[in-house]
Amino acid sequence: MERYLYKSNSGNYNFLMAYPAIEEFALASLGYLWLYKIADTHEGINAIRCSTDNVVISKKIDSIAFSMSFDFDYAGVFEILEKLNIPLYSAERNENHPLIFAGGPVITTNPCPYEAFFDFLMIGDGEESFKQVLDILKSNSRCEALKLLENVDGVYIPGKNKTVKKAVVPLHEVIYTPILSDKGYFKDTFIIEVERGCMNRCAFCTASYINLPFRSYEYDKIIAAIDLGLQYTNKIALLGAQISAHPDFDAIMKYIEDKIDNGVNIELGISSLRTDAVSPQMVQTLVKGGQKHSTIAIEAASERLRKYINKNLKEEQILNAVRISRENGLKGLKIYSMIGIPTETQDDINEFLKLGKKIKDENKGFNIEFSFSSFVPKPHTPFQWAKREDTKSLEKKQKYLEKEFSKLGISAKFSSIKWDYWQSVLSRGGKELAPFLVEVYRRGAKIGAYKSALKELDIKVNESFNLDQPLPWDIIEMEPRKTLLINELKRLEKRQ
Ligand code: SF4
Repeated sequence: MERYLYKSNSGNYNFLMAYPAIEEFALASLGYLWLYKIADTHEGINAIRCSTDNVVISKKIDSIAFSMSFDFDYAGVFEILEKLNIPLYSAERNENHPLIFAGGPVITTNPCPYEAFFDFLMIGDGEESFKQVLDILKSNSRCEALKLLENVDGVYIPGKNKTVKKAVVPLHEVIYTPILSDKGYFKDTFIIEVERGCMNRCAFCTASYINLPFRSYEYDKIIAAIDLGLQYTNKIALLGAQISAHPDFDAIMKYIEDKIDNGVNIELGISSLRTDAVSPQMVQTLVKGGQKHSTIAIEAASERLRKYINKNLKEEQILNAVRISRENGLKGLKIYSMIGIPTETQDDINEFLKLGKKIKDENKGFNIEFSFSSFVPKPHTPFQWAKREDTKSLEKKQKYLEKEFSKLGISAKFSSIKWDYWQSVLSRGGKELAPFLVEVYRRGAKIGAYKSALKELDIKVNESFNLDQPLPWDIIEMEPRKTLLINELKRLEKRQ
């Protein structure tokens, strides 16, 4: 069952809001649902939702927006376009086709590999410029609209603009789940964005760098959103890259705890805890809110490496976070980290095992799981130039850690190193990747398709960059500029 928390508008302009994955995930994507709500309440717009498993369209569509959150979302975009009988490349479409555009974190980070498929792209915060885009689309011809869109904040028109400035908006209206559904990945959960970005600026982290400056919503607005959500559901989730960095986080938690103590049934969800700020009160509130497990991110096991990536976390703080979590009622913790960070040595890898053993010895019976991904260099971060470690060498490290953690009786899970490699290729790719993406899609978009498509097309992928060479994503102007990223990289290199 779906419950709309707002009143839809209707109109003559048929606007398809497409999510390039299955509906279950679309219904869990706060950014997608919020923009759908904006379209669905906009005067003159008939907004229609669609996902890869739900492409039943009976009307002539005037334009299509895609929300892209993950590097591999392009395959879902192609699937939907094909189901709608629309050519993939924008150059193969004409005035009888809908205008097709995209936005979301993947596009903001680096639109270059995808620009051949879209008429325009939206870079940065979408909530304000999206309304202007809808106004332009509904009252202009395709050709006129493209001319007018050039002046909208954050809009990039491939082939026309040389550069585009990322749109940044002050956070006024709190963003929350506008459609509750039991078919969503997070069933009937009212998600509230409490902040955007993260002020820590770890050297690899796009969630921090592409969302600068860090902004948070005012306490009163978050409380009002919690109260609104509780009118519809008891499942409340707070969303942010580092939620506990919110200046009023303790007060927000206290508000929720008082409600629970007064008999209000609340299931509280918080994706991860800030390791150096885990407090007894925070954990007690989570436990009262029904949470049994949580996550802390340490990113690297050795203090040397954490210092290098700007995650200034001491071992003592990690041990404290685990102890406080255990003593205050959580049943277990997932400890998230990475392998393959530039300059990583075997000593750094062995630090994982020493840390794991220490945590296990000090927290008998507490459920600990290490969760690893491999380092993926990302645009707009100080590590954007870095070479990713060779896949074979990363797989060797993975096998070693699996074996040694198993000897210690500690669970360790790993992301797929091969998929992480292709993620790094896509995230730092340029326009030359467009035919490659189509070829991978034609071959089924499974892991083997990437290698065979590369061979077939004889394309060279970017493995690393020099500090002075132009980068595909230089077309995006965002703070901090490249010179500041270089300065930050040099500062971090001196810290080793
Ligand atoms: S603390 Fe987490 S969210 Fe913040 S910059 Fe570091 S990795 Fe990113």
